[in-house]
This record gives sequence, structure tokens and C-alpha cells, in this order.
Amino acid sequence: MVRTRIAPSPTGQDIHIGNLYTAYINWAFARKHKGQFLIRIEDTDRTRYVEGAEQKILNTIKAYGLDYDESVDKDGPYKPYRQSERLKIYKKYAEELIEKGKAYYCICTKERLDEVRKQMIAEKKIPKYDKYCLHIQDEVKKKVDAGEQYVIRLDVPENVEVTFADVIHGDITINTNNIDDQVLIKSDGFPTYHLAVVIDDYLMKISHVIRAEEWISSTPKHVLLYQACGWQLPIFAHLPILR
Ligand code: GLU
Repeated sequence: MVRTRIAPSPTGQDIHIGNLYTAYINWAFARKHKGQFLIRIEDTDRTRYVEGAEQKILNTIKAYGLDYDESVDKDGPYKPYRQSERLKIYKKYAEELIEKGKAYYCICTKERLDEVRKQMIAEKKIPKYDKYCLHIQDEVKKKVDAGEQYVIRLDVPENVEVTFADVIHGDITINTNNIDDQVLIKSDGFPTYHLAVVIDDYLMKISHVIRAEEWISSTPKHVLLYQACGWQLPIFAHLPILR
């Protein structure tokens, strides 16, 4: 069963022309294969949230004749389709990753993170989190239980080649030394894009992730998350950016 999606973020005045182009391709591919096309609203970045943008995005998509099978205004088996209504789901999976030893709590302050970053840049290294909290998890866990603010990070293994196949670009490989221990759950309790996109594409049974080329650099992070969760990868196709 072919299931495609677009996942716009309500952060602008309307849908971006590039996203509309991506929507067309996802829609056409799903229709061609008698599959389903859904629209998921990715509203986890609260600092960039624009009131009313979601409705405008949906109106524009409809005005361009792209009918969709599931979304925030069209019930389906994998609802809710608005990420801010799925926070418990993300938290549950993030905590499972901690139990499996694939993720960890981090309580480092912004000052410490800035300091580590500066130091690494001075040493001509790729600036990354230094896994400080990973090595003192018992202590960190006690502070988290006592109410201290925290984030949850993925424990990215060192020096591993991550490869994924892209329908358009072929095999893409990146070494994990270039990947930071990405934040999965932010201190406001919201997931990051990386965690939410992987969980939702998996739970919503998306068969083909068709999106713009600008997301290629995020995909190895997603692949690591799929692997950590023990899930099969969807088929990836990264489209040239509309210029
Ligand atoms: N929320 C992302 C966007 O605004 C979705 C990217 C993706 O398709 O994974 O484009």
C-alpha cells in the first residue's frame, strides 16, 4: 500500500510554493498507485508558530485541487494529525529509547553547551555535544526526578557509517562522527522535528517519504532513530528544490 504525506509547519503566512510542489508529487504518486495521501501538521516549533497559518495551508492545498485522505480536518485511523496533540506518544517512545540505552537525559545549561561548542571550534573539531551527562546518568536522573529541566538526547554511536538508499540520489552515506547527539525531547516537553517525523511516519504507515532535497542532511539522523527503535525504513526520495 502506497501512503505518502506532506508535513507542513504553520510557521509562515501560507504554504510555501516549494511545499506545494512537493505536495503535488506526493499526491500524484499516491493517486497513481491507488494509495493514500495525507497531510500532517508539524507544529512542534512553538517559537515560530503562526496563528491561522494551518487553515490557510489547508485552504491553499484544496484550492489547487489536491484532495487528501487524512488530516486534521479529515479523520483517519492514525489521528490525531496535528503533532501538538501527540506529545504523549513522543514522550513514551523517547522514554523507551532511554530504557533500551539508546537515549539519555541531559541537564546541561546553555552556558555549558556554548562553552563546549566554543572549545571544539577552537580545536577545529565539528561542534557537537560531548556526552557529559551520558556518563553521569544516575546523578542526572535524580535531578530530573527532583524537577530539574532536562532534554532527552539520542546516544549517537561514534564512527559508524550510516547508509540509506534514496530513489533519486542513490545510496547516501554519512559517518556518525558528523552527527550530534540530537535532542529528541526539548525542555518544553515538545519533541524535535527529528523525533516526531520518524515516529509519525512509522505510526502513520508512510511507505514513501518524498520531500525536498534540503532534508537530506537530516535523514541520517532519522535513519539512526529508525534503527534505535528497531523499525524498517520507509522509501526515501528527495526532490530537487524548486528554484
Ligand atoms: N515540517 C517539515 C517542513 O516544514 C517537514 C519535512 C519533511 O517532510 O520531513 O517541511
